[in-house]
Amino acid sequence: MAKTALIIGGGASGILAAILLAKNNREVTLLEKNDRIGKKLLGTGNGKCNLTNLSCSSKDYNTDFVAKILQKYSPARVIELFSDLGLLVRTDSEGRVYPYSESATTVLNVLMQKLGEYGVKVICDCEVKSVDNKGGTWTAHTEKTDYRADMIVIATGSDATTGSKGYKLLQPLGYQCTPLCYAIAPLLSNDIKGANGVRAKAEAAIVIDGKEEMRERGEFLFKDNAVSGVLAFRLSSVLARKKGKFDSCELLIDFLPDYTVEQIVERILAFDNAITPLGGIMHKALAQNILAVTPMDRSLIMSPAKALAIAKSCKNFKAKITGVAGRQFAQAVSGGIDVKDFDDVTLQSVKHKGLYCTGEVLDVDGLCGGYNLQWAWASAMAVGGCDGDKD
Ligand SMILES: Cc1cc2nc3c(=O)[nH]c(=O)nc-3n(C[C@H](O)[C@H](O)[C@H](O)COP(=O)(O)OP(=O)(O)OC[C@H]3O[C@@H](n4cnc5c(N)ncnc54)[C@H](O)[C@@H]3O)c2cc1C
Repeated sequence: MAKTALIIGGGASGILAAILLAKNNREVTLLEKNDRIGKKLLGTGNGKCNLTNLSCSSKDYNTDFVAKILQKYSPARVIELFSDLGLLVRTDSEGRVYPYSESATTVLNVLMQKLGEYGVKVICDCEVKSVDNKGGTWTAHTEKTDYRADMIVIATGSDATTGSKGYKLLQPLGYQCTPLCYAIAPLLSNDIKGANGVRAKAEAAIVIDGKEEMRERGEFLFKDNAVSGVLAFRLSSVLARKKGKFDSCELLIDFLPDYTVEQIVERILAFDNAITPLGGIMHKALAQNILAVTPMDRSLIMSPAKALAIAKSCKNFKAKITGVAGRQFAQAVSGGIDVKDFDDVTLQSVKHKGLYCTGEVLDVDGLCGGYNLQWAWASAMAVGGCDGDKD
């Protein structure tokens, strides 16, 4: 009799696991609660789908649990797999890999084509309410029907954006869910005003309880009461991983990372413009915020001391961060099913034979930049037996 597999969740990792298991001669049924599979995938990378990142290593994640799987199923291996599926890709100057079409639909198209080719049975509008195992057979219970198989893959993702609560399928079986916090989301702050929609390339650090946790260059997009953009998204993961266990968090921004304090002073003095001293240097909304917090005399006369104070503010602007924006703004969740109960090579449960997890349902989160999809694909390859190495 053919071996069978149930995949719960038709997102990135579930779809790929289904394809690979079916390719390895399993009879595969994919159950998806939405009316179609791959909905979240279509929204990734602003619709362009940043599907992996060449610079990926376990340092980009919250846990070393990913190390062996990422070593075996590296970004290069993922690109090769997608190439075999028929996808043409392009890589940007920062190592981020996209479909050449720059459209997430192209990624979903090649995946859907393979689902059909390998005969995966895809059932949508089918929310799994619970799963259990009796005598070695796994059952997924839905409102209408029960589905059975020898193997079950929980690929229900996180509740970022979608509100998916797939973790709940595993908790009754004795698996723990670590505290959940939204990540890859805008940082909340009331300290930058009147700059909604302004973009700025900067260097910034996140300082938690007085300790600098991460410093990077990138782009901010300022919003009312929030700081967004790729740089904020990357810094937000560090904050999310603290799970609210901190007293204070500050964003330290260097708005002019390519210039020293002395160079900025020289420039301000050369133009001797006391009304708008940063007028030719940066967006006026940001300049106003900087000048507002600079300790200086407010007269209309420029001086070396005043120029120095302004230059220092430009390079060391502090904004208090009150949190990370909520579910509808988040691209990932820090937290999930505790990885301690899963093998770090096969992703099979160490407690239940035939039970596997892939993707974001596990307590694995990567930084912004293609690392979460990289984990989704790599974990699916580990479960699906990408090299024909599945029993
Ligand atoms: C707006 C946005 C943009 C993003 N952009 C990027 C990017 O460019 N690059 C990157 O690396 N990452 C990105 N991410 C993160 C990335 O999309 C996820 O990490 C990845 O999709 C996780 O894959 P997954 O298979 O674990 O879960 P998902 O892709 O979330 O799929 C889970 C699926 O399971 C289904 N499901 C849940 N519960 C049940 C149930 N009980 N029964 C049946 N079905 C169920 C859900 O409906 C869903 O279809 C982005 C996320 C968002 C929200």
